[in-house]
Amino acid sequence: MTARNESTARELLRLDGVTVRFGTSGRPALDAVDLEVAAHEIVCVLGPSGSGKSTLLRVVAGLQQADAGQVLLEGSDQSGVPTHRRGVGLMFQDHQLFPQRDVAGNVAFGLRMRRASRADQDRTVAALLDLVGLPGAQRRAVASLSGGEQQRVALARALAPRPRLLMLDEPLGQLDRGLRERLVVELRRLFGDLGTTVLAVTHDQQEAFALADRVVVMQDGRIAQTGTPLEVWRRPATEFVARFLGFDNVVEATVQGEAAGTPWGKVPVPEGTPNGPCRLLVRPAGVRLTPAAEGLPATVTARTFRGSHVTLLLQPSGGPQVQAACALREAPEVGERVGIAFAAQDVVVLDAEPGA
Ligand code: ADP
Ligand code: MG
Repeated sequence: MTARNESTARELLRLDGVTVRFGTSGRPALDAVDLEVAAHEIVCVLGPSGSGKSTLLRVVAGLQQADAGQVLLEGSDQSGVPTHRRGVGLMFQDHQLFPQRDVAGNVAFGLRMRRASRADQDRTVAALLDLVGLPGAQRRAVASLSGGEQQRVALARALAPRPRLLMLDEPLGQLDRGLRERLVVELRRLFGDLGTTVLAVTHDQQEAFALADRVVVMQDGRIAQTGTPLEVWRRPATEFVARFLGFDNVVEATVQGEAAGTPWGKVPVPEGTPNGPCRLLVRPAGVRLTPAAEGLPATVTARTFRGSHVTLLLQPSGGPQVQAACALREAPEVGERVGIAFAAQDVVVLDAEPGA
């Protein structure tokens, strides 16, 4: 296994109660955020537009001042330390390569700033271009590169000064989906090989889950949940996180023993769930179709082909619509009557939202 799976990892970045306000009224853009990133870890901050992701990166980079709290890199408080002395690399969505310079000129930018020798620059540039899959591209003009190639050059440029922390802000945001999916796999492998510590932000859950060792979900300037991609996917902490991940089977429920009373009737809950009222999520994987007479009767109202499976919207006679996923060959047609059964292992009792 790679180094990042060893739990003894050294802490590289810590945010302690970091608050950023724009203007004097309203909600802060970052609200007392605590976050730790271990050396060699890939952390992906995920959240809707306006939730504070870019502000978080900017405050770590020193491009934005915190109104309260501290940013520590390797244990040292960064207040008053200018961006270029923090040893962090930044890559933004609009990666802004220098159009008048060739590929090598772009990649070597940070090295020239550090007054590296010409031979060192050439060696590093060549090695980085190999790494990002553009061997020998030194003399190519930036304008002649495709979007994906430009992204790789921007990445090589950010990596060149060997930052102790690489920060990516929606790095693949402008590329089409196929290319993004490929690049994300390459990036993860590349960061693993280099042992790079990465703090990336994105609004795209697939990108975050594919890239990250750990995901941090932001909501209105606060951290709503952190965990491995699997933990967050399996057990979204709150209704906000569940809906952000696209899980919409959320209802009011009252747990009593092994089941909960809901608008859909009785739904089984995992063992040990405390009795009482709560919000309940049934992940689509836990919605099973049965013959109409056996489960909760419902009508298929929509059917969407997803490649590997089909998603269905089911309207029971009572209660909100139910999202289900099923194999293509088993998928009923729109208008068909089916029955619904719920599986306890995909039922999640949600925490109350902070401030709700
Ligand atoms: P995200 O990157 O998640 O989309 P941002 O960090 O850019 O979110 O923004 C968080 C909040 O702070 C938003 O409400 C945004 O409008 C506000 N904000 C960000 N930058 C500024 C700024 N320079 N001046 C005023 N408000 C800002
Ligand atoms: Mg942003």
